[in-house]
Amino acid sequence: MTAQQPNPGFVSLRAVSKKFEDVVAVNQLDLDIREGEFFSMLGPSGSGKTTVLRMIAGFESVTSGSISIQGDDVSSLAPFERPVNTVFQDYALFPHMTIVENVEYGLRNRGVAKDERRKLALEAIERVQLSHVAEKNPHQLSGGQRQRIALARALVLRPKVLLLDEPLGALDKQLREKMQVELKAIQRDAGITFVFVTHDQEEAMSMSDRIAVFNQGQIEQLGTPHEVYESPSTSFVAGFLGVSNLLSGDTARELVGNDALVNIRPERIQLHAEGHRPAKDARAVTATVTEVTYTGPNTNYAVTTSSGARLVSTQLNNQPPGEDVLFTVGEKVVATWNNDHVAAIPEKQRSEKAAKGAS
Ligand code: ADP
Ligand code: MG
Repeated sequence: MTAQQPNPGFVSLRAVSKKFEDVVAVNQLDLDIREGEFFSMLGPSGSGKTTVLRMIAGFESVTSGSISIQGDDVSSLAPFERPVNTVFQDYALFPHMTIVENVEYGLRNRGVAKDERRKLALEAIERVQLSHVAEKNPHQLSGGQRQRIALARALVLRPKVLLLDEPLGALDKQLREKMQVELKAIQRDAGITFVFVTHDQEEAMSMSDRIAVFNQGQIEQLGTPHEVYESPSTSFVAGFLGVSNLLSGDTARELVGNDALVNIRPERIQLHAEGHRPAKDARAVTATVTEVTYTGPNTNYAVTTSSGARLVSTQLNNQPPGEDVLFTVGEKVVATWNNDHVAAIPEKQRSEKAAKGAS
C-alpha cells in the first residue's frame, strides 16, 4: 500500500481515478492546487475535466485515490459538507424569486438571520456590480448579468474553493472576454481559490495563475500560462495551446540542425522578400507562400520549403496602413528565425506517465 503522503496543496488529489463502467475518465491523477490561486483545467472535450471538478465538489465519488482540502480528507463527505461551491454553465437561478432573494437563498438554508443575509447578499451583488438589478427577476436580466448573479450567489457563501465549469461557455465572444477580466478581478479581490474548467486555451491563458492541460484523463503538463505556451512538454500541449510548427526527423535536421522534436511558434518566424540577407545568428530558408489569411492585427501565412516542409508564420501588421508588406500566394520569400526561439519538446514524460498509469 502507498505510505501516507504530505499534502502540499490547498486542494490535493492523490492517485485519483474514476471509471464509468469500462470508461476510464480520470487515470491516476495527482494534483496540488494552491491557496488563493486561479487554477484552470484545460483540455479537449472528454478529457476528464468535469469529472475531476465533480469529484472535488463531491457530486461524483472517486473510484480510487483520495481528495483533501486544507489537509482534511474529504473523499467520503457529501457535497454540502465540503468547503466548496460550484458555478455551472447553466446558471439555474430560481425564476420566481428576485435577484436578491436568489442570492440570499443559500444563507437562508444555513439559518442566517433575515437582516444579516440581506446585507450579505446585497454586498455580494455589489461586488459583481449589479446593485441596480437587485429587485428584478431573473428573466429581466441579460445572460451576462445572470452569470454574474450566479457568481454572487456562490461567493456569498464564502467558500474556501470555488469550482467553475465552463461558466462563460454560453456567452458570446465579446461578453465572454469582458467577463474573463471581471472574473479574474473578483477572484483577486475575494482571495478565494478558483478552480476553473475550460476547453478554450485563450480563456485559460488570460485568467490563470497556473494551468493543468488535460488529455485522456491525465495531466499532460502543469505550469504557468507562459510555461505551457513557451515550453510545451509534449506535442499534444504544443498543438492544443495555439498554433505550432512541430518539426522532427529530416525536416528538423534541415531547418534547425538536429533531428530532435522541436516547436517554433508562428510569431517567431519572420518572412522577408526574396533576396533578403539574414542576420548572422538567424536561420533562414527559402520558401513559397501557399496560404495568406488577413485577420486585421496580423496576417497569417503558410509557406512550403523546397524540401516540402510546411511552416506557418504570423506577421504583426504594425506598419502604417497601406504600407504593410503583404506577400501573395505563389510568391517566393525568405523565412527566418532565431534558434534560441526554438523549443525542444521532451515528449518522453507523457509516455512514461501513461505507462505507469496503465500498469
Ligand atoms: P470533459 O469535461 O473534459 O469534457 P468529462 O469529465 O465530462 O470530460 O468526461 C470524461 C470521460 O468520462 C468521457 O469519456 C465521458 O464520456 C465519460 N463520462 C463522464 N461522465 C460520465 C457518466 N456519468 N457516465 C458515463 N461516462 C461518463
Ligand atoms: Mg466538461
